[in-house]
Amino acid sequence: MSEKLTIGLIPADGIGKEVIPPAAEVMDAVLPGKFEFITLPAGFELFQQTGVALPEETVETLRTKCQGALFGAVSSPSHKVAGYSSPIVALRKKLQTYANIRPVSSPSVRNAKNQDVPVDMLIIRENTECLYIKSERLETDENGAKVAYADRKITEFASKRIGRVAFEQAVARGKLREQQKQQGIKVGWTGKPKVTIVHKSNVLSVSDGLFRESVLAVKNEKPEYADVDVEEQLVDSMVYRMFREPEKFDVVVAPNMYGDIISDGAAALVGSLGLVPSTNFGDVVVIGEPVHGSAPDIAGKGIANPIASIRSAAMLLENLNFTAEAAKIYNSVDKLLSEGKILTPDLGGNATTKDVTAAIISNL
Ligand code: ATP
Ligand code: MG
Repeated sequence: MSEKLTIGLIPADGIGKEVIPPAAEVMDAVLPGKFEFITLPAGFELFQQTGVALPEETVETLRTKCQGALFGAVSSPSHKVAGYSSPIVALRKKLQTYANIRPVSSPSVRNAKNQDVPVDMLIIRENTECLYIKSERLETDENGAKVAYADRKITEFASKRIGRVAFEQAVARGKLREQQKQQGIKVGWTGKPKVTIVHKSNVLSVSDGLFRESVLAVKNEKPEYADVDVEEQLVDSMVYRMFREPEKFDVVVAPNMYGDIISDGAAALVGSLGLVPSTNFGDVVVIGEPVHGSAPDIAGKGIANPIASIRSAAMLLENLNFTAEAAKIYNSVDKLLSEGKILTPDLGGNATTKDVTAAIISNL
C-alpha cells in the first residue's frame, strides 16, 4: 500500500490544461501521497512551438514508468497542417489502448416515451481497427467521375479482445452492484449482467459477421461468463432503442465506427459534454480522458467544467483497483450536481473550475 504509483498527466491544449490539474488534485485528496504525478508534453500548441506533437519521450515515459495516465484534450486545426497528426490517436496506437470505455449514467433521464428512467450503461468501443485504419483511395469510373473506396478491417483477434473486455466488465459491474445492494445503495441497472453486441451483420455479413461471431465465442471462454445475458442489436435499431429505452442496456460493445457514433449519442442523453468521462484501456497503461475537446471558446477563462476529467480520474482509480476511493469521487460529484449550487456556466451556474474542484474535494 505504501508504494507510490506514477501517473502521467498530459494536459495538452486549451481547457485540457485547466481540467487535468484538478483531476490530479482530487486523486491526491482521496489517496493522499499515493501518487507521483509527472506532467508530460504533447499537443497542437507544442507542435506549433517545436514541430513535434507527441515527443517520443512522452510515449516512453508512459510505457515504462507510469501505472496510469490522464489526457486532457488536443486542438484539432480545421485545415490540414503539414506534419501534424493528432497525438491522442497516435498515443492510442503506440500504446495499443484497444478499448475506449465510456460510462453513460444518470439517476434519471427522460426517455423518448416520456418516462423518467435511470440510465446506467457502459459503452465499449473497439479502438484499433474498422474504418479507422484509414485505407482510402480515389479512382475514376469509365465516365471519368470520381469513385471513393474505404477499406474496413475487422479481425478475429481484436474482436475477441474487445469481447473479453465487455464480458469482464459485465461480471465486475454485476459484482459491484451486488455489494451496493447489500449496503442499501440504489443501483441504476437492476437486471442480470448483460452484454449487447452492436453490429450490422444483416448487410455486412463477412466483416460484421466476424465481429459478432468472435464476441459471441468469448462467452464460452470462462465459466463466470455463463451468467451474463447476451443480446444483439443492429446498429440502427441500437440507436432507436437507446433513445426509446436507455434503461434497458448494461454493457454495450461495438466495432470502432458504430461505437464512436453511439457513444456520442449516448452522451447527449445525459447532458453536457463537460460531464462525460472515458478511459482508453490496454495491456500497457490505462489513460483516462474527458470526452470533450479543447473548447477554444472558453479556454483561458478558468470556467471549464472539470467534472468529466475528475470522473475520468475516478475510472482510472477503478482500473488501479481503488474501487472504494473511486466511489467516493463519484458520490461527491453526484452530490454537487444534485445540490445544483456550485456549477460552471455550461450547467447554468457561475462557478469557476477552482470552485467546483474545491467543492468536490470538500464533499469527499
Ligand atoms: P476541439 O476541436 O478541441 O474538439 P471544439 O471546438 O469541438 O474543440 P469541444 O471541446 O468539443 O470544442 O466543445 C464543444 C462545446 O462544448 C464548446 O462550446 C465548449 O465550450 C463546450 N465544452 C466542452 N467541454 C466543456 C467543459 N469541460 N466545460 C464547459 N464547456 C465545455
Ligand atoms: Mg470537438
